[in-house]
Amino acid sequence: MANDDNFKKVISHAKEYGYVFQSSEIYDGLSAVYDYAQNGVELKNNIREYWWKAMVQMHDNIVGIDAAIFMHPTTWKASGHVDAFNDPLIDNKDSKKRYRADVLVEDYCLKIEVKINKEVAKAAKRFGDAFNKDEFLSTNGRVLGYQEKIDSVLKRLGQSLEKEDLADVKALIEELEIADPLTGSKNWTDVKQFNLMFGTKLGASAEHATDLYLRPETAQGIFVNFLNVQKTGRMKIPFGIAQTGKAFRNEIVARQFIFRMREFEQMEMQFFIKPGTQKEWFEYWKDARLKWHESLGLGSENYRFHDHEKLAHYADAATDIEFNFPFGFKELEGIHSRTDFDLKQHEEYSGKKLQYFDPEENESYTPYVLETSIGLDRMFLAVFSNALQEEDLENGTTRTVLKLPAVLAPTKAAIFPLVKKDGLPEIAKQIVEDLKWDFNITYDEKDAVGRRYRRQDAVGTPFCITVDHDTLDDNSVTIRHRDTMEQKRVKIEDLKALIKAEVEMKYWLQRMF
Ligand code: ATP
Repeated sequence: MANDDNFKKVISHAKEYGYVFQSSEIYDGLSAVYDYAQNGVELKNNIREYWWKAMVQMHDNIVGIDAAIFMHPTTWKASGHVDAFNDPLIDNKDSKKRYRADVLVEDYCLKIEVKINKEVAKAAKRFGDAFNKDEFLSTNGRVLGYQEKIDSVLKRLGQSLEKEDLADVKALIEELEIADPLTGSKNWTDVKQFNLMFGTKLGASAEHATDLYLRPETAQGIFVNFLNVQKTGRMKIPFGIAQTGKAFRNEIVARQFIFRMREFEQMEMQFFIKPGTQKEWFEYWKDARLKWHESLGLGSENYRFHDHEKLAHYADAATDIEFNFPFGFKELEGIHSRTDFDLKQHEEYSGKKLQYFDPEENESYTPYVLETSIGLDRMFLAVFSNALQEEDLENGTTRTVLKLPAVLAPTKAAIFPLVKKDGLPEIAKQIVEDLKWDFNITYDEKDAVGRRYRRQDAVGTPFCITVDHDTLDDNSVTIRHRDTMEQKRVKIEDLKALIKAEVEMKYWLQRMF
C-alpha cells in the first residue's frame, strides 16, 4: 500500500537524518521505546516550547508545574487507574499474537472509510469542477451504506465496552469476520482486560519496599497540587495548571513507531472551572486547541474531531482531535470534561479538603475540570510525517525535502562558503558567530553547493546562506529558501531580521489568537 510505503519512508528518514533512533539499538532494540537524536531533540524541544508559550505565557490565568514521576501509590487507587486503566485484549490462537480488541474493530472501520474516500476521488474526477463533496457524501447510496455500517459498528463497540460486555466485543469481531492482520487467522480467544500501569518498588530491602507505579498520565500530579497552586498563586477560578512530562504505559499493541510508545511524553493542562460551566469551556478549548494546531500550517483538512461514544469513568464529555497520519486519521489530542471526579476522589482517599472558596459567590465548592491532553511524541510524528515530501523538479530530478514549519525546525539556517579558500570560510564563520546568539545555526563547507542544499532540504533547514567571491566586495550573500528554492541577494547585516521574521514563535502564535 502506498501509505505503508510512506510510513516506512518516514521511519527511515527519521533515523537517517538524526531525528529518532530505536532505543538500545546495538542490543537489537527495545520494543516501542525510542531515543530522540541530535535533530529530534531540537524539534521536540521546539514543539514543547510552542505549546508551553501558547498555554502558559499567553494566558494570564494558566500557570505551569513540574511534578515528580513517582507519586504516592494511593493516588492511583483514587484516580481509578488501579481498577480501571485497562485495555481489552484478544489473542489469536494460531499466530499467538495479541491485539487490542477495540483497535481491531476500529481498523475494520478505517478500511471502510478508505472505500468511501475512493468513491469520493472517483466522483471528483468524473464531475470535475462541478463536484460538491458534502452533497456527494450525503446523497450517494453506496457511501451512505458504508457510513451506516461504520456508525453501527462503532456504536455497538462503544456500548459493549461501556457495559464491560467483553463477550459481545468478541462476538462483534467474529460477526465482522475480522482476521489477524498478520496471518489471516480468525481463531480468537475471549477478550480480557489488562492493566497498563508499570509497577516498580521504592525502598532498600525487599521486605520494606513500597509498591509504586510509574505514572501513566501527568494529570494526577496536577490534581494533587491543585490547592497548593491555587493558594500560593492566589489563583481565581477559572484558572489552569499546565505540565509537560514523561508517562509510562505497558502498551500491548505498540507497533506504530512513536505513535504508541511505552515511555512517552504528555503536554497536559487542567482548567479548573465553576460547576455548570463545563459545556462552554469544552467548546472554548476545542476551538482554542484546533487553532493552535492550525497555526502551524499543516493543513486544516488534516484535522478532525471525533466525539467519544464511550466516555471514561471520569468524563461527561470528550472529544479527540484526530490527525491524518500516514496510516490514516488517529487520535493526536484529547479534550475531556472531567467533572469534579478527580478532586472528589482525592478528597475521599486523602481525607483533605480540596475545595475552592469563591469570593464572588461567597461559597466553597469542588471545581469542575476541563482537560486538554496531547502526546508530544504524537505531535512530533504529525509534524514530521506531514513535512516529509518528495518533489519533482523542473529539471526532471526529484528532491527529498522536510518542510517543517520554520518555527519548529531544529536548525534555522546553514551557512556555506562557496569554496574553501580565498577568505570565504572566514566570512561564513563570522556570520555563524553573529547569528548563533539568536538561532540554531550550522556551518557546512563540504561538497558542491548543490549537494549541501539537498542535505539541508532533507534535514528541514529553512534557510541556506552562501558566501561567494562577490561577498568580498559587496558584503552581501545569497539566501535560499527551502520551500520555494528561491534565491535572493541580501546584505549580511539584514540576515538576522530576515530570518527572525520567518522563525520567531511570536509571529506563528499570533495566528492563533
Ligand atoms: P489511545 O486511544 O491512542 O491509546 P488514549 O485515549 O489512551 O490514547 P489519553 O489517555 O487521552 O490517550 O492520553 C492523551 C494523549 O497522550 C493522547 O491523545 C496521545 O497523544 C498521547 N498518548 C497516549 N498514549 C500514548 C502512547 N502510548 N504513546 C504516545 N503517545 C500517547
